[in-house]
Amino acid sequence: MWKAGASMAQTVDYLIIGNSAAGITAAETLRAADPASSILMVSDEPYSAYGRPLISYLVEGKTTEDAIWLKDDGFYERLDIQTSFGADAKAVKLDANAHQVHLLGGEMIEYGTCLLATGSAPFVPPIPGLEEASGVFPFMTLDDAKAAWTAVEAATEKAHAAQRKSRVVVIGAGLIGLKAAEALSYHADEVLVLELAPRILPAVLDGEGASILQETLISHGITCLPGVSAERVQQSTEGMHHLLLTNGEEVDGDVIITAVGVRPNSGLAVEAGAEQGRGLIVDACLQTTLPDVYAAGDVVQVRDVLDGSLHPLALWPNAMRQGKCAGLHMAGSNEAEPFLGSFAVNAVDFFDASLLTAGAINPPEDGGYEQTVIAQDGVYAKFVVKEGLLCGYILLNRPSNAGIYTALIENRIPLDTLSPDIFQDIPLNLDFPLEQRWERLHKCYPEGLDARGWKEES
Ligand SMILES: Cc1cc2nc3c(=O)[nH]c(=O)nc-3n(C[C@H](O)[C@H](O)[C@H](O)COP(=O)(O)OP(=O)(O)OC[C@H]3O[C@@H](n4cnc5c(N)ncnc54)[C@H](O)[C@@H]3O)c2cc1C
Repeated sequence: MWKAGASMAQTVDYLIIGNSAAGITAAETLRAADPASSILMVSDEPYSAYGRPLISYLVEGKTTEDAIWLKDDGFYERLDIQTSFGADAKAVKLDANAHQVHLLGGEMIEYGTCLLATGSAPFVPPIPGLEEASGVFPFMTLDDAKAAWTAVEAATEKAHAAQRKSRVVVIGAGLIGLKAAEALSYHADEVLVLELAPRILPAVLDGEGASILQETLISHGITCLPGVSAERVQQSTEGMHHLLLTNGEEVDGDVIITAVGVRPNSGLAVEAGAEQGRGLIVDACLQTTLPDVYAAGDVVQVRDVLDGSLHPLALWPNAMRQGKCAGLHMAGSNEAEPFLGSFAVNAVDFFDASLLTAGAINPPEDGGYEQTVIAQDGVYAKFVVKEGLLCGYILLNRPSNAGIYTALIENRIPLDTLSPDIFQDIPLNLDFPLEQRWERLHKCYPEGLDARGWKEES
């Protein structure tokens, strides 16, 4: 097996940079589509592929390190995928015309086709004093999560020895910030979450949903301060952080987690001349503007099929879908289909609260949208409709059959063909018009069967 540190240049048919949702799916797809090819995966994380969304569950104790790996021990060898994982395997230079990539460890790889599956990187907020302070962690990788966990446990021990409570301050109440807050609340006495926007989870919740979720978090010892961020951070000689907040208040914290957002990890490609919008610009085959260089996952700018906007869709299923699509196109497979866009679907839980959201959830007031809201006993459901089509929903503590609502959005099914109670009751597949019901039930059937799943007449 080729390893970083080998002195000679390596030549491969396919080079995949990044070993996570997009990269690993592309590698499997390439192997199936082009069995005789040589495939090399490089990643600056020193691990076999793992479930990134599971890192908070690991810290929380809901899962173990044995259970977070996506593939078994023999996976890469069995599929004859060469690997080079670790700090030295960071790709630092891409020369698309020469078809070469240089790694930090000094190695050079010549490739036929390259896939950038480099994901996203945390954005560090420009708060004076934050960069110089120790005990500040992002929460993106397995190593980040382990480092934060260790620091919080040590801080709690130290605080208890001094007969005081330990406190973690999380800057940012997006999905990653709140997952970090939940996980670390099991190891700290207090967790305080700051969020500059007027509500928590500003991208996936509205005001009412956010207040309900905030109550759940409070009941588990997590205080959220929407509309407030840190203005300055000072660190004492004992390592405590003193934060001056934008509302004028001051708080102390033992450990700070920064989670104010992610940026596409696109520097390698951009330095090589690739065009970038809010992520790498790709065509319908997921090829970047560089020859023989493709991209998939968080690093890519995606067209939102609901409103036409262009932005990265930093979600695990999207990265897998793009990884598969890119792999098929790279291999020139006749199964390859164009990637025309997607829309956001989030499924996440916080303690005992479940949250599912999709599409447009905070539409502009003057955009011709209608909204149906059902709020009762801690359940909050909101449906956003435009021109007779569902275009977004929030389901807080009402998880059943959310996939049906997602399918209504995806398949643009006119709501007047469905039961008028579709939002009040939990929907069933039977609520679909007959034709779509057959399609949904039989979409995984092999070719040669008709929409009912029967053999087509020849
Ligand atoms: C705490 C947390 C919770 C999440 N929860 C959810 C969830 O519940 N649902 C959901 O849909 N999504 C969730 N996400 C988002 C999801 O994990 C990402 O959308 C997904 O991991 C993107 O996959 P990717 O393959 O594009 O990139 P990534 O998973 O970011 O992987 C990219 C890899 O490439 C490596 N790399 C980058 N640059 C280089 C380089 N130059 N050389 C070598 N290697 C490089 C990186 O180190 C990394 O290992 C969560 C993310 C986090 C951090």
